[in-house]
Amino acid sequence: MKLVLLGPPGAGKGTLANLLKDALQISHISTGDILREEMKNKTSLGQEVKQYIEGGKLVPDEVVTKLIESRFSSNNIAANGYMLDGYPRTKKQAEDLDRILGDSGKLLDYAIYLESSLPVIIQRLTGRRVCRNCGALFHIKNKPPREEGVCDVCKGEVYQRADDNEETIKTRMDVYLKNAKPIVDYYQAQGKLKEVDADKSSQEVLKILMSMFDAS
Ligand code: AMP
Repeated sequence: MKLVLLGPPGAGKGTLANLLKDALQISHISTGDILREEMKNKTSLGQEVKQYIEGGKLVPDEVVTKLIESRFSSNNIAANGYMLDGYPRTKKQAEDLDRILGDSGKLLDYAIYLESSLPVIIQRLTGRRVCRNCGALFHIKNKPPREEGVCDVCKGEVYQRADDNEETIKTRMDVYLKNAKPIVDYYQAQGKLKEVDADKSSQEVLKILMSMFDAS
């Protein structure tokens, strides 16, 4: 299966991606995770993108597209199936992705659009916590770690992303809304768009998607 996950910040792309990765046995590629790893390791790319990420702005298209291009050229992702999470975020990126995927064997099956309402998004993002070490996701109310500040999976430090504060969330939503429609229209025109109500729990969304894949 070859997928992209679309939807606003807080729609649950990361949580769903983890569930789908296990259910479908496909690679999960999150540009946000890759960029945060670069920041954590203080690489030159990490230093370059820090100001964009912490301000809730988009990293320039050519920077993220280069990352995606190198993932697809360096291993067998396309043949085994993949799920892109957080890419594409602009119409230009969607076009670049089609160019990178090139031949039909690698092309997308579906663009999954996770529709979510603003109050649910704010509640999810302001309560979100992440493991600094393994990236496991938590939520202070819905899924707190067993021991405060400590990851259930690897015992790493659980922290709040610098961009998960109300002011930056607002910027991220503005950026998202500006870019979302052209991307949705792009995949709609290709007949690949599937929309799902992502205010539902991640398990319910998973169930809906799995039965949709089975039926196709
Ligand atoms: P995410 O983890 O997907 O919420 O991404 C966190 C931040 O990384 C975003 O707010 C952007 O600053 C940056 N980012 C991630 N993916 C992209 C992308 N495809 N294009 C531009 N910026 C991105």
